[in-house]
Amino acid sequence: MIGRTVQAEKMAVLGEFATGVAHEVRNPLATIKLTVQALEKGEANDQRRDLLVSVEDEIDRLNRVVGDLLDYGRPVAGEPQRVEIRRVFRHATVLTSGLADQRQVRISASGDSRLAIYASPDQVIQCLVNLLANAIEACDTGGVVHLRAFRNGDRINVDITDNGSGMDPQTLRQVTEPFFTTRQEGTGLGLSITRQLIELNGGELHIHSVHGEGTTVSVRLPAANDDNLFTQ
Ligand code: ADP
Ligand code: MG
Repeated sequence: MIGRTVQAEKMAVLGEFATGVAHEVRNPLATIKLTVQALEKGEANDQRRDLLVSVEDEIDRLNRVVGDLLDYGRPVAGEPQRVEIRRVFRHATVLTSGLADQRQVRISASGDSRLAIYASPDQVIQCLVNLLANAIEACDTGGVVHLRAFRNGDRINVDITDNGSGMDPQTLRQVTEPFFTTRQEGTGLGLSITRQLIELNGGELHIHSVHGEGTTVSVRLPAANDDNLFTQ
């Protein structure tokens, strides 16, 4: 209990700091981007235009980092409550459906979605959105991402399985470190935030991955007391 309070306080301080820095960085970035875009328009020389485009790409990357840092600062609050898995699944899949459509990846769900967890709904939805985005991004066109919920003692397991790229053991060891990314457009903050939020909700995150075959991320969260009302 004490450990979690200290952890929550640490996250609140880190969150406040991250939000402050993110706001300070965002405004000058917006000005720089407009300036670079204006310079690109007036530039007839190909080589110089390419350089300006690469500056713009880096500005976009910084903007993504800042956006993800703002997530660190977002409601660390979020009181735990009874929340049905189907509600979490529905919200998370709606929020990632654009990305899934764009990459032609199908998301399916199975298991007893009436199971209920005891956690902050907003934080769990944010975690599933991060995990679904990673799963979709790991897939090629025609990939499949599967969500499955099942009871495991006093916990509810939520598995997110994809048949995407998978990870080698070296990558797997580093994935929850802040800023570790292998993706061109990545910030490397998704899994680090996700793991912290899951642990803050009294849960655990496990990742199993086979390079070239796919990945299963298993989120284990406390079951709501009454969830056995719904099991057969
Ligand atoms: P980002 O998505 O911005 O790269 P994350 O923290 O979400 O940051 O993920 C870190 C890295 O973990 C990714 O760059 C990728 O290499 C790896 N990864 C995460 N999820 C998966 C997955 N489902 N399949 C393959 N690799 C993954
Ligand atoms: Mg990610």
